[in-house]
Amino acid sequence: MRSEQSYTLESISQIVDGNLIGNTDVKIQSISIDSRSLYLPEETVFFAITGERHDGHHYIADLYQKGVRAFVINSSFDRAEEFPEANFIVVGNTLNALQKLAAKHRSQFNYPVIGITGSNGKTIVKEWLNQIVQTSFQPVRSPKSYNSQVGVPLSVWNLNSNARLGIFEAGISQAGEMENLAKIIKPTIGVFTHLGEAHLENFEDKQHLLNEKIKLFSTCEKVVYCSDDPMVVTTFVLSMEAKQEQYTWARNKHAFFRILKESIEGNQTRIEYKTGRLVNEFVIPFTDRASVDNAITTYVTALVLNLDYRFVNAEMPKLEPIAMRMEIKEGFGNCTLINDYYNSDLGSLEIAVDLMNRQQTDKKKCIILSDIYQSGYTEKRLYRAVAKLISKNKIDRIIGIGEKLSKHANMFDPHAVFYPNTNLFLSHFDRSKFKDEVILIKGARDFHFERISNALQYKAHRTVLEVDLNAMIHNLNYFRSLLKPQTKLTVMVKAFSYGSGSVEIANLLQYHRVDYLAVAIADEGVELRNAGVHVPIIVMNPEAHSFETMIEYKLEPEIYNLKILEEFQRALKKNVVKNYPIHIKFDTGMHRMGFLQEDQEELISHLKNNDHFYIRSVFSHLAGADEIQHDDYTKHQIELFKQWSKQVCKHFTYPIDRHILNSAGIERFADAQFEMVRLGIGLYGISAVHQDKLMNVSTLKTTISQIKTITKENTIGYGRKGVLQKDTRIGIIPIGYADGFSRKLSNGVGKVMVNGKLCPVVGNVCMDMSMIDLSNTKASEGDTVVIFGDNYPVSLMAQQLDTIPYEILTTVSRRVKRIYLQE
Ligand SMILES: *Cc1c(COP(=O)(O)O)cnc(C)c1O
Repeated sequence: MRSEQSYTLESISQIVDGNLIGNTDVKIQSISIDSRSLYLPEETVFFAITGERHDGHHYIADLYQKGVRAFVINSSFDRAEEFPEANFIVVGNTLNALQKLAAKHRSQFNYPVIGITGSNGKTIVKEWLNQIVQTSFQPVRSPKSYNSQVGVPLSVWNLNSNARLGIFEAGISQAGEMENLAKIIKPTIGVFTHLGEAHLENFEDKQHLLNEKIKLFSTCEKVVYCSDDPMVVTTFVLSMEAKQEQYTWARNKHAFFRILKESIEGNQTRIEYKTGRLVNEFVIPFTDRASVDNAITTYVTALVLNLDYRFVNAEMPKLEPIAMRMEIKEGFGNCTLINDYYNSDLGSLEIAVDLMNRQQTDKKKCIILSDIYQSGYTEKRLYRAVAKLISKNKIDRIIGIGEKLSKHANMFDPHAVFYPNTNLFLSHFDRSKFKDEVILIKGARDFHFERISNALQYKAHRTVLEVDLNAMIHNLNYFRSLLKPQTKLTVMVKAFSYGSGSVEIANLLQYHRVDYLAVAIADEGVELRNAGVHVPIIVMNPEAHSFETMIEYKLEPEIYNLKILEEFQRALKKNVVKNYPIHIKFDTGMHRMGFLQEDQEELISHLKNNDHFYIRSVFSHLAGADEIQHDDYTKHQIELFKQWSKQVCKHFTYPIDRHILNSAGIERFADAQFEMVRLGIGLYGISAVHQDKLMNVSTLKTTISQIKTITKENTIGYGRKGVLQKDTRIGIIPIGYADGFSRKLSNGVGKVMVNGKLCPVVGNVCMDMSMIDLSNTKASEGDTVVIFGDNYPVSLMAQQLDTIPYEILTTVSRRVKRIYLQE
């Protein structure tokens, strides 16, 4: 994050109570905590944050090489001499230092600052408020949902002297955290959105969570909250001081802002209210309860900012849904599209460019960018900063759209092209000019860049599989939390990453620093290598004919018998390769592939007497780790594995990793981690033990193509199997067995979800289409149909089909487009 203002290293050192070794005059404008996203190294200070299983100090060498010369480090770091040109500020705790610097930065601004917290709705209220107050206040706000112990300091760093308001969100996951955030944000106006059941894990109960959350408000002159929940009111009344003004809203009871009536009119809700002597109303373009609540909170906060209610009334109908997530899609000409067209400011541009950098490295980078809306900069300085960001990130092609951007064209690469508006760009548009590129489509809402994205993407088959990458990382972190800090992690990306995609998932996992990836066959590994994935890859089913390819692409085979060992050795010999890593598989009871104990002596003598390969790991696979009834068997397998690996490893002087646990094993047999584990289905959101700890990753959905009412006794579809007992509204959906929607779901066996209601399949599933009974719901054509997803878990569909989620996920056909969502 970059600030408008610069600090010398000397002043930073004083602010954070550090000990400066190096040049005191170095000027700093940007702060970074992540070595992977960096763009102005010479003006950046890197805070080496240490977490439970992450240590920023490990990346200092990398950053130094990229040109960073200022680091805030812990006193335990003892490699400073290796970086002769670097300047170090030594502190006791780097996270505290970051927070102190942000708090100091905050203290220089005297305009109002809004602090938002609550269980849900923080980001939405923040963004809506921003939409409404943008022109009056030029606010600085948290990018995306940066609301954590590191997200808040980074957000606050953007405060500058041209803005007249700050809007920041604060989120906590355990007691004690809010005090830190409150010191950094020091809000003058507090907004509490909602108290719910989310994120209760680390708190005694809801009251405890609430008590912690409202610590954000101790400096507030005014607070806004809904007083319908008695626990919330009581807590606020008891903990606020008399001089802190409380602006409550409530339904049908006394409050500062009393809701009199809410009426749904088509896609809108009309909200009538009374405040003081004013009786008035406003309209919002949403009908669901959460949106209505968030809109009211936003409205009341706007009044607290002294905005005229007539102005706010005019703005409310324009509120837009908040898509905080960027989409990654496949486009024409082997392009990858990254869509991010809901806001456009420097912070979010930086985040989007960072995401682009993480995609396939073999493709060229292209950015289609609109004018930037960012307060705190003169126009010239703003576009100079944008141009700098783009040139630092080595973007191959730049297309600028907007009058302001065009005006500053001379700041950009001479090959960049500019158009004054989206229409003109589209009228010159030629799809064949886009090939093998990663295209970031980044624009403010009013540029309507969705039109550009539509022109570049496949005319989408309306059936898509949405893959939520944030949910996947949540699941990854959950499984990591079960591991000892030193345990290594292999993630299984075989079978198209359990149906969710190959390169996209591998890239993400590489970014999150998993130790190994594992694929089933060599081709899957080649695809990843071709896309620039460089982490070690194990091939679980190596076949002799692909050995040369594997050597060429540095793919490491699972070796499961002597024959394959000898064949692989021959391939290594032929290619004059020495010391190649291999992974030895033991069969301890799965009775699939693997050496048996009787092969052991021969295996050892074979391995000892050659220098073509070395054993990187020995492993085995559990047959029933997810089921209690097999626990004795599982323990027996683990015991056997321990003995055999000991007998093998003792013949070698180098370290050999051992691993036996799959996802269920990680959750249930913590003592058998050895040096490594292999995570599969858990990453994709399925657990045999703690389903509630995981987030859903994949949602298969489509839309209703057509609706018709068919009278009773008629039949639906092939073979005339669907005989109607009554007149029935039938929906036709564009998904069939060729998409992975099994024909076994025919005739009521399968159900899909439309507007929250389950609708059975009528008649036989066809190749590309199916028919569903809409009697339970008021659906219209174009409505979304969830085949499985967030509120309708894939495990239910697995039950309908008498199979397991693995099979459902891996049989969604490749013609169904995958869309990746990321915050
Ligand atoms: C697929 C696979 C795994 C992962 O299993 P999950 O049950 O999906 O966690 C682990 N090890 C081997 C050898 C596998 O083939």
